[in-house]
Amino acid sequence: PIVTRFAPSPTGFLHIGGARTALFNWLYARRNGGKFLLRIEDTDRVRSTEAAIAAILDGMHWLGLDWDGHEYYQSQFWARHAEVAHELLARGHAYRCWMSQEDLAAQRERAQAERRPFRIESPWRDAGKSEGEGAFVVRLKAPREGETVIEDLVQGRVAVQNAELDDFILLRSDGTPTYMLAVVVDDHDMGVTHVVRGDDHLNNAFRQLAIIKGMGWPEPIYSHVPLIHGQDGAKLSKRHGALGVDAYRDELGILPEAMFNYLLRLGWGHGDQEEFTVEEATQVFDLSGVGKAPSRFDIKKLLSLNGHYIRHADDRRLAEIVAAKIGPQADVALLTEAMPVLKTRARDMNELADGAGFLFKSLPLTMNEQAQALLTDEARALLARISASLRAEEGWTTEALEANLKAYAEAQGLGLGKLAQPLRAALTGQTTSPGIFDVLALLGKEESLARIDAQAA
Ligand code: GLU
Repeated sequence: PIVTRFAPSPTGFLHIGGARTALFNWLYARRNGGKFLLRIEDTDRVRSTEAAIAAILDGMHWLGLDWDGHEYYQSQFWARHAEVAHELLARGHAYRCWMSQEDLAAQRERAQAERRPFRIESPWRDAGKSEGEGAFVVRLKAPREGETVIEDLVQGRVAVQNAELDDFILLRSDGTPTYMLAVVVDDHDMGVTHVVRGDDHLNNAFRQLAIIKGMGWPEPIYSHVPLIHGQDGAKLSKRHGALGVDAYRDELGILPEAMFNYLLRLGWGHGDQEEFTVEEATQVFDLSGVGKAPSRFDIKKLLSLNGHYIRHADDRRLAEIVAAKIGPQADVALLTEAMPVLKTRARDMNELADGAGFLFKSLPLTMNEQAQALLTDEARALLARISASLRAEEGWTTEALEANLKAYAEAQGLGLGKLAQPLRAALTGQTTSPGIFDVLALLGKEESLARIDAQAA
């Protein structure tokens, strides 16, 4: 059975690169009836935070990525990591190294002076059973001959000469494991069959394979996915708007299904299909559809996709999200009723909440500058006359109001726009809003007349 995993280091928030890695792993497992595991790589005790862990779990829940069993914490397995290091020592694939920092620095300097790449040459590599004094680290005795080959599902066949591999550290002098050792041991113990992650880990894979071979363990199948780049082609960073997933939700007002689809299509394709339900994605996702070139993050595309999903989302659900943004004065029932009208133009949930805000304003209405400017003496006089005409309206529906105002405009020899502009200002305090008849209908007769009268002269 196929087992994948997402193994974030909780030293920052769940950024979109990580979220996409999680998504691909999740989809691959679900597609193949396998398991998807979550392992928090909290071995860096100083930089790992509870807040980051919470943000990772929260972000995954929001995207609908559920993991099998409980989440694992790498720091729980330190004893096991040390055990494997000792097993490698016993098998002759690792050695204790007492080299000092000074010796290391001297080697590094010599390499630099001779303009050749630095690779550690420890005198302890072939020292047999002799013992040094004081603190030591455990290093892998990396193979020197031949080559290491990976048949990567995304990158294809990649190979390195083993002479390029270094004797990297497995256990530090305080006995704690390095990332390189921990990740291999945990993947093995958790039965991970497929390692899907960013291609910044491709070089690590060769070193990790040296551990795996030393232990005689089965090799996982690797898929190293190209990193996400910004529009300028550089690796995505904060400067490009590389935010945590929670910021896409809260600050940018993105719906999870829009994020899901955007991330899915970022570097993966299936024919020319643009949109996938979660169900469809779990039926067709395959790692062979992941491209080799880095994909470019395009916030405009994400927002336009988001607008599309907003227009197709359930009104009640949207109303609940918007109500939470507006605050306690919001009324979910009224928002639900208004949603078909409100959602036609919004590209994000914050815009939707802004557009809905007028429903819950109380008198005196806060006015923005443009709305204020529209309310000239002439406009206020017109509002007084419209108010009188509307007061007589019995059927307070969008259709009835449209007929009423059109008839009134015609009788007065005015264009409808002349009427709508001051009305909109008086009713919403803004110069943009849903259609004026809808605004009147949603506010109801009493509230509409009160707002109009407050501005009429
Ligand atoms: N913890 C590593 C990271 O966040 C991932 C390790 C892996 O996927 O093998 O970059």
